[in-house]
Amino acid sequence: MLAIGIDIGGTKIAGAIVSSSGEILNELRVPSPAQDPDQMIDVVVGLIKELQLSSSEPIVAAGVAAAGFIDADQSTILYAPNLNWRNEPFRDRLTAHLDLPVFIENDANAAGWAEYKFGAGQGAKDMVMLTLGTGVGGAVVADHKLRRGGFGIGGELGHVRVVQDGKQCGCGRKGCVEQYASGTAVLKAAKKLAASDGPAGARLRELKAEFGELTGHQVYQALLEGDAGARELVAQAGGYLGQAMGSITAVLDPQVYVIGGGLSEAGELILEPIRQSYLRELPARGFRPEAKIVAAKFSNQAGVIGAADLARESVG
Ligand SMILES: [Zn+2]
Repeated sequence: MLAIGIDIGGTKIAGAIVSSSGEILNELRVPSPAQDPDQMIDVVVGLIKELQLSSSEPIVAAGVAAAGFIDADQSTILYAPNLNWRNEPFRDRLTAHLDLPVFIENDANAAGWAEYKFGAGQGAKDMVMLTLGTGVGGAVVADHKLRRGGFGIGGELGHVRVVQDGKQCGCGRKGCVEQYASGTAVLKAAKKLAASDGPAGARLRELKAEFGELTGHQVYQALLEGDAGARELVAQAGGYLGQAMGSITAVLDPQVYVIGGGLSEAGELILEPIRQSYLRELPARGFRPEAKIVAAKFSNQAGVIGAADLARESVG
């Protein structure tokens, strides 16, 4: 059974036909009209129709992943900060133009489901995914089910607090792990280090001078070169994430943590500090099994794969 997965990002929308074994059969990408719900409906409907037409086999459902709070019925986007949307009845508006069932899902949940079903979390009964990108996204699979919470907006693990009275978070609280362990947070810290005149920022200063501005790519380059300043920044981010994972473990006791998002491309350079911090922060360490901490298998295709599979399961 084939299903369509759509992943709405800030700059692009990805759409794909996905098989029941999680394989992508046909993939399309179009620019995202992020600020305009009416245009977004047109673009997503167009993408789904184009994918339907390209398939010789029938397609049973479409799943649409977006960053934001989705209600418990999976029909309304309650709040999407990056898309500037409030209470948008997204599913009904899409369904009105389409001849197949449509489901909407939080993007981190969709990515987590893809990893649980086909990726690095395969074989686990209980898995947590943490996505280190613009923010820190979370997905919780418990007893083989994606857990969305009573109101649909559970699993927001980026807002676990790790610093009392810490940095201001977009959610209104202070000290959320997202402010310390996201790709954005590491880049901010790198810019600050480069702007200082200490020896730890020397290589980052050179890269900034060479490229005009520091981006994630340059921080990654410094990291691969073995620059101590860049390594320390990533290790600090991993340390904060491990703290959050200590608390998450107390509640959910997952067997596996899957670490995804741009920052996870640093591989062992981030995974190792995360593991060390997780073990330091593990409640009753030595008296309980320790979770595996692994990098995600799918990079930017997790959203479409997970959204398609969840949609297929909903109609199956
Ligand atoms: Zn927060």
